[in-house]
Amino acid sequence: MSEIRIKRIDLTRDYEAHEREYQQAIERVCRETAFSGGKYADAFDREFAAYVGVPYACGVNNGTSALHLAMLALGVGPGDEVIVPANTYIATAWGVSYTGAKPVFVDCTPDTWEIDPKEAEKAVTGATKGILGVHLYGQPFDYEGVRKVAEKHGLFVAEDCAQAHGAEFEGKNVGSLGEMGCFSFYPGKNLYAFGEGGSITCKEEKHYRHMTRLKNQGCDVRYYHDEIGYNYRLEGIQGAVLRVSLKYLPRWTARRREIGRRYLQEITNPLITMQAHPENTNPVFHLFVVQIEERDKFLAYMAEAGVECNLHYPVPCHLQKAYADLGYKKGDCPNAERLAEHCVTLPLFPEMREDEIDRVIALCNEFA
Ligand SMILES: *Cc1c(COP(=O)(O)O)cnc(C)c1O
Repeated sequence: MSEIRIKRIDLTRDYEAHEREYQQAIERVCRETAFSGGKYADAFDREFAAYVGVPYACGVNNGTSALHLAMLALGVGPGDEVIVPANTYIATAWGVSYTGAKPVFVDCTPDTWEIDPKEAEKAVTGATKGILGVHLYGQPFDYEGVRKVAEKHGLFVAEDCAQAHGAEFEGKNVGSLGEMGCFSFYPGKNLYAFGEGGSITCKEEKHYRHMTRLKNQGCDVRYYHDEIGYNYRLEGIQGAVLRVSLKYLPRWTARRREIGRRYLQEITNPLITMQAHPENTNPVFHLFVVQIEERDKFLAYMAEAGVECNLHYPVPCHLQKAYADLGYKKGDCPNAERLAEHCVTLPLFPEMREDEIDRVIALCNEFA
């Protein structure tokens, strides 16, 4: 196998381009010892809320904690069920499980690969509290379809936006659609910290206040604990780094869209199936996932050419060992299972050079 010449994602290019700015931001936090929460984390919360277009953003230590706190604030607990797509990163379901509630996995549509509102409706029971949709790969799910099901049955809609910072559904930012939007700033996400980070966006002050207390050891006033809480605060250094990155996010998003559109238009090999992007959505191409019948052959072919590809995700949530006790079996979510067996993620990151994009397209088109 030859050496990797095109990486799936390369974060060093962003760091090299903005090194001084990042370093200065970090240095200020150190000088002021604003390490845990504090001025820079709070300033980022305000700027991120404005970016998403909601009154409140509650910064936390990672995206998984964001999902956990969102579920707690929405009153999810033991005996409850929350509907989640089978095709997602496992942390979506963790957020539900941590509260003692049960995630109920539903299939994706065969073309958008996002949660299928019809499947969600079939999964509603007397114990269902809400639907936690995921804007997977940066492609907004059918929010309108999900909202209709939720309204009919009196459920909440929450959004897992960990892969979709800046994506739009009918002109509205993800994270501003449902009751809560949960974001991750894990390195490699469209907006990322230098370590771990996350945020929950919401419209209601009572939710914001509750999550702020929960992330801060269950107290509003120091050393007076009104409920069992968590240490889920966002670090000051991450807040400071994220404020720098947030300025660049629109530029990065524009570049991701350019690359995504080039792939969509120029990869014409019939052996490669693309995700559908409905017209009422504006995706942000966090991951460029395609389906290929002979997936393993394609992976070997790309590796041989020095192009790194990977899989999102090789095992759908309902078939993970961690959830074996829920009793799901192969065949329960056929579209998600098909995707797990045939998905390949192509290189895509904002700093990709034209010659690299050209090469990925040419290799895809030459695959036989
Ligand atoms: C990354 C991710 C998460 C978890 O975020 P962390 O910051 O890694 O905890 C949750 N859901 C989805 C869809 C993700 O991609």
